[in-house]
Amino acid sequence: MNTPRVLITGGAGFLGSHLCERFLAEGYEVTCMDNLITGAVHNIEHLFSDPRFHFEHRDVTEYIHVVGKLDAILHFASPASPIDYLELPIQTLKVGSLGTHKVLGLARAKGARFLLASTSECYGDPLVHPQSEDYWGNVNPVGPRGVYDEAKRFAEAMTMAYHRFHGVETRIVRIFNTYGPRMRLEDGRALPAFMSQALRGEELTVFGDGSQTRSFCFVDDLVEGIWRLLNSDEVQPTNIGNPAEMTILEFARKVVEITGAGSEISFRELPMDDPKVRQPDITKARRILGWEPEIALDEGLRRTLADFRTRVSATAEEPV
Ligand code: UDP
Repeated sequence: MNTPRVLITGGAGFLGSHLCERFLAEGYEVTCMDNLITGAVHNIEHLFSDPRFHFEHRDVTEYIHVVGKLDAILHFASPASPIDYLELPIQTLKVGSLGTHKVLGLARAKGARFLLASTSECYGDPLVHPQSEDYWGNVNPVGPRGVYDEAKRFAEAMTMAYHRFHGVETRIVRIFNTYGPRMRLEDGRALPAFMSQALRGEELTVFGDGSQTRSFCFVDDLVEGIWRLLNSDEVQPTNIGNPAEMTILEFARKVVEITGAGSEISFRELPMDDPKVRQPDITKARRILGWEPEIALDEGLRRTLADFRTRVSATAEEPV
């Protein structure tokens, strides 16, 4: 039997852990590699009983080696929330640059297909709306988000160089805001912040006047899009996200409604370079992958709520 093998870097993170599950379900043997800076073993604990699942506690900016064949590598290692990459600026730059180089080198050595987790942050604070893949972006390289945006833009350039120069089969997904179970409570992103605040009966902290927009995709939809992209022959970057755009204030109100909380909304200072609008143009994903999101926001938030309830009540019971 020739079981396909995949390496997922950042596999113990929010998106990585959902990808590990999906590839096991598709019949793969999965090696999950993570240095656990922002990932966590509890995200993958339920997978250890599967003999086809392996975990390696490793930093992909160092030399990496995997024994045996690899059919595919998904490079998802990176801090990915604004708070995380503000706290870990050098690691963020290193994993996007040195880490991507190492992982591409491994893909080349193994003849594996390589998929890069890129980001809508490549478009920066966009001057084109919605964002399609041919927009080159409006990024401040020296602002607080520059460490993430530029690392991912470098990673895309490096990926294309390995494709063009070394003939590695590469794929690039530009991921827009995604939410779902296992997002870290304390990662500072809108959904975990709002949902845990609502469940604790605290005020929801909306930054600025809340008129900035985002478009939120449920994690299962994203994983389906990534699965299809990996199995396609599309080398150029492809947006995967949910085009249902809303203001952050509307989003906060929706979280209050779904949680049934009585929370008020309070307004805080808008972080520097916070993009004013963001909405994926998914014309290309529809055309080449036959993909579009299927899970509406209400449904996705309900599916996310159960997981947050358990974790928020567990933290409430911890002794102070
Ligand atoms: N945001 C907010 N309150 C919070 C956390 C985030 O109003 O407690 C806003 C943030 O300023 C941004 C949007 O929600 O405009 C989405 O933020 P997130 O960190 O989830 O992702 P981003 O799209 O900024 O990378």
